[in-house]
Amino acid sequence: MKELYLLGATGSIGTQVLDIVKQNPTEFKVITMTANHRIEALRHLIDEFKPRFVSVGQEKDSIALQKDYPNLAIGYGPNGIIQAATYHSNHSDTLLVNALVGISGLMPTVEAIKIKRDIALANKETLVVAGDIINQLLQEYQVNLYPIDSEHSAIWQCLKGEAHKTIQRLIITASGGTFRDYLRSHLQTVTVEEALKHPNWSMGNKITIDSATMMNKGFEVIEAYHLFHVLPHQIETIIHRESIVHSMVEFNDHSIIAQLSDHDMRLPISYALFYPKRVSNPVRSLNLVKLAKLSFEEVSFDRYPCLNYAYQALNKGGNACAILNAANEAAVDLFLNRQIDFLSIETIIKEALDTTTWIEKPTLMQLMDTDASVKKIIYQRYKKG
Ligand code: NDP
Ligand code: MG
Repeated sequence: MKELYLLGATGSIGTQVLDIVKQNPTEFKVITMTANHRIEALRHLIDEFKPRFVSVGQEKDSIALQKDYPNLAIGYGPNGIIQAATYHSNHSDTLLVNALVGISGLMPTVEAIKIKRDIALANKETLVVAGDIINQLLQEYQVNLYPIDSEHSAIWQCLKGEAHKTIQRLIITASGGTFRDYLRSHLQTVTVEEALKHPNWSMGNKITIDSATMMNKGFEVIEAYHLFHVLPHQIETIIHRESIVHSMVEFNDHSIIAQLSDHDMRLPISYALFYPKRVSNPVRSLNLVKLAKLSFEEVSFDRYPCLNYAYQALNKGGNACAILNAANEAAVDLFLNRQIDFLSIETIIKEALDTTTWIEKPTLMQLMDTDASVKKIIYQRYKKG
């Protein structure tokens, strides 16, 4: 029995994690969970999974919950998430599952590492903002971090049993996002509703917009850099519309190993939760004959400038990726709240990268300060009313 500490239980990844728990009731026990605003959904999860501790975004919600669940320990705010991540256990097999969105996932990951709790990470922003520091901490505390993102799960599976020095390049596949068939000239007027219709995956709002701008792929390049310890130029991206090949690795003998499966996040989630075991799951088996064709196309930096900004930030290092992430979080939030148009997302990110003070070797606190100051400037400038 593995104990799970689940951050972001009410989200797209969180609910799929719980789906796997439901199907394997003797394998997992959910000890803590967090939600931000979806309190009704959290109530259902409390009734079903009976955690020992939950945390919510707002104090008033925690007070209301406490009245209905007098025996449940309840926290709130950023500190409550850290409590959920580090909740004490004497059990030998515990796993933090971080399915938060945005930089809110960073500090709980850091604190969980410090109590030597292994981590299954969906929250890619943690590695984008502070990958160097996270890697140092993982090393120092001898903690394992397992990726949940489908591309990284694919690469992780492709690398099993291979010597690191034989890796020639990682090939990360991209669906191309919601607007892959739109000309750039049509992007100026696209609506939030249009942007939220992803062709292959059903995901949270922020990552769906990140997929449409291809910033998601840029983040995945940075994530891969920190997870697999290769150089930026060894990480390539390629458009693959079908989302069947989840990523590939080319080795020094020019063998390319790929991982294929239906596009269903329960596979990479299950792989991370059960690692090192591979177990059966409800994911549909692929019918290759019916699929018949898999296509691959070059990604254009002109078409997708955000991907280019991500490579630039990764090559620059220091706090550049924290600037990239903060500007993206603020810009996507403004777009989702109909304060800016779609193409302004990339303009805002470029502006932030060009104007924010660069720090060569930032501390964790300097990265958090970078995040706060970049967002403050963007909201001051672009938020209406
Ligand atoms: P969702 O928006 O669906 O869920 C996010 C979760 O985090 C919810 O439980 C939400 O609470 C909570 N949350 C949101 N903002 C905050 C905050 N400021 N503080 C605390 N909690 C917060 O996101 P996804 O599940 O889609 O994505 C989660 C992470 O996984 C992201 O980093 C994403 O990039 C990554 N990922 C997602 C994939 C997917 O298929 N969805 C695929 C690969 C990676 P509430 O709902 O209660 O408000
Ligand atoms: Mg992905």
